Amino acid sequence: MTETPKSHGRLTIRPSLRPRELMAEPQVRGAWTARIITLFPEAFPGILGLSLTGKALAQGLWNLETIPLREFGIGKHRNVDDTPAGGGAGMVIRPDVLDAALREAGPGLPVIYMSPRGKPLTQARARALAQGPGVTLICGRFEGIDQRVLDAHDIEEVSIGDYILTGGEIAAQVLIDATVRLIPRVLGNQDSLAEESFSIGNRGLLEAPQFTKPARWEGRDIPPVLLSGNHAAIAAWRASEAERLTKERRPDLWRAYQDGMDPAKDRQLSGASDQSRAHREHQEEPRR
Ligand code: SAH
Repeated sequence: MTETPKSHGRLTIRPSLRPRELMAEPQVRGAWTARIITLFPEAFPGILGLSLTGKALAQGLWNLETIPLREFGIGKHRNVDDTPAGGGAGMVIRPDVLDAALREAGPGLPVIYMSPRGKPLTQARARALAQGPGVTLICGRFEGIDQRVLDAHDIEEVSIGDYILTGGEIAAQVLIDATVRLIPRVLGNQDSLAEESFSIGNRGLLEAPQFTKPARWEGRDIPPVLLSGNHAAIAAWRASEAERLTKERRPDLWRAYQDGMDPAKDRQLSGASDQSRAHREHQEEPRR
């Protein structure tokens, strides 16, 4: 072996110094686009390249572009971060560096910073995003991003839950996965969207339990109603199970669903309660 791991490491750093490269996938005009500002473009498409989202990406039903933040770094070492003002642990991404990347991303797509301080991601939000042209996502690293660049661009922050990740890349993939599967033709069977948890068709509630063959497994039977062939009875069972599960496990969702029945309370609702509002809007639509 003549090559040491260190020299290999240097070689792998080089490509990030080249001008911006789009992902290898064909870029289709007009398709829903995820544009991702990240220090780790190699993390994409990641899991999104597999299964239904991967097939849809290859078919051009959605586009993926990465903007490597490192290319906008300062000086010979392309520094993107510096120590926190006021002291403390870790590093903060510089405002000028992210600003340059945002200019490269350009206008046309809503910009979201994946952040634990953001508004929690909901199915309603994924639905709204799926209906738009796409999204520019900023993936943070280290301690986060200088507040001034977030303020200057009036950037919205979205969280995927009350825990801290090492970086925004996994969070971005969560948001993209939840959104892309709602784009028409991405799922093989579009009907599976109709009754899943948080869906409008399921009134924003959790989905009823699922069963498949064999009819009897280790002494446990499938609920007989599901084998009855009585579609009305099956729908009623599923609706009542959805209510039971939601009441038991997600009192917050259940309250939002009930509050959603009262238009006077509508303005106070947010987050999970978007579900019940969406349900009401759906109810007001003429039945097809
Ligand atoms: N110091 C920050 C956390 C930084 S974590 C704080 O205490 O609020 C580093 C990066 O990971 C963040 O910039 C963000 O992009 C991403 N990240 C971490 N947790 C996240 C979450 N729950 N949702 C979305 N992004 C998250």
